[in-house]
Amino acid sequence: MFNPLGTFLGMFAHDIGIDLGTANTLVLVRGKGIVIDEPSVVAIHRKTKKVLAIGAEAKQMVGRTPANVVAIRPLADGVISDFDAAEQMLSYFIGKVHRQLGSIPRPRVVLGVPCGVTEVEKMAVHDAARNAGAREAHLIEEPMAAAIGAGLPVTEPIGSMIVDVGGGTTEVAVISLGGIVVSRSIRVAGNEIDQDIVTFARQKYNLLIGDWLAEEVKIAAGSAYPLPQERMVTLRGRDVITGLPKAVEVSSVEIREAIAGSVAQIVEVVRETIEETPPELVADLADQGIALSGGGSLLAGLDIRLSQETKMRVWRADQPRTCVVRGAGAALEEIEVLETVAAPIQHSRAFR
Ligand code: ADP
Ligand code: MG
Repeated sequence: MFNPLGTFLGMFAHDIGIDLGTANTLVLVRGKGIVIDEPSVVAIHRKTKKVLAIGAEAKQMVGRTPANVVAIRPLADGVISDFDAAEQMLSYFIGKVHRQLGSIPRPRVVLGVPCGVTEVEKMAVHDAARNAGAREAHLIEEPMAAAIGAGLPVTEPIGSMIVDVGGGTTEVAVISLGGIVVSRSIRVAGNEIDQDIVTFARQKYNLLIGDWLAEEVKIAAGSAYPLPQERMVTLRGRDVITGLPKAVEVSSVEIREAIAGSVAQIVEVVRETIEETPPELVADLADQGIALSGGGSLLAGLDIRLSQETKMRVWRADQPRTCVVRGAGAALEEIEVLETVAAPIQHSRAFR
């Protein structure tokens, strides 16, 4: 993939890769690395609808301020639910890069977008990037970017499978010859698992806990497979009946049971994708294994569980949270790859 001329030109071009994720937005500037890694959250005033803060600042604001501030996650379900908020968020992050690094004149931008976004939404993202000063804006399907970021041989005539577990969606794709051959996406990922924990606390302990505590509990004690050492965590919230603060100790075994339904859906979508994959490529998957990316793939034991259920080797990519943005950045570095992957999805000739 090394292209000396491209690298040389890149030193002047200052190209930007963006992962517009359902939970987090990451921005990579070529030659500088990842310069932004913030939640995809916009805080607005409930009544006036005025944008009060974006990104990390917005996430901090919500929950600490009076109820007139609400958090919007413009991409929560892998589709752009709130156009204006998405555009403002994108402009804000690109603007922030300019403020941090000094103005980057007319950068080329490659944006990873979820597979589920419609043509209209793609146009909107494209226009938003242009409005924010991009000279060129290319879109790349997130699983493709994730696969490149994970180091899979996407342009070769070999089948590679990537399973990207994000906040809002889990996307599974088999890639060969620079194209996505089979793909599936479900709206079950990290956020849904957090909700499982919220529901569990309410149903089993009459305890109301917040989304962000549920996420912390998941990270501290969630699992998809028995842990080498099970552990206890404290759930702090409000008693449903008395309304008073309450804390309950629960075990990682209970948390695993609470999230089992969502984990089973993730397992199922991987199995379905394998079933749909042409046999020649399934043989490649058996050789190469299945790569995991996305923050949700950090759930303890997810790799072991998937491996057990698919009878294939399953491995987490290096730095799974940053695969998409690094893949988008790498696509910029190699115009050839960019053109292949930025084109509409084409099935490789052999399997049409
Ligand atoms: P997206 O691409 O949709 O923005 P990310 O790839 O950034 O999402 O992943 C976000 C999800 O990863 C969140 O649900 C978050 O809770 C989850 N996550 C992050 N770290 C961990 C961890 N160590 N264990 C389990 N889940 C994690
Ligand atoms: Mg993602």
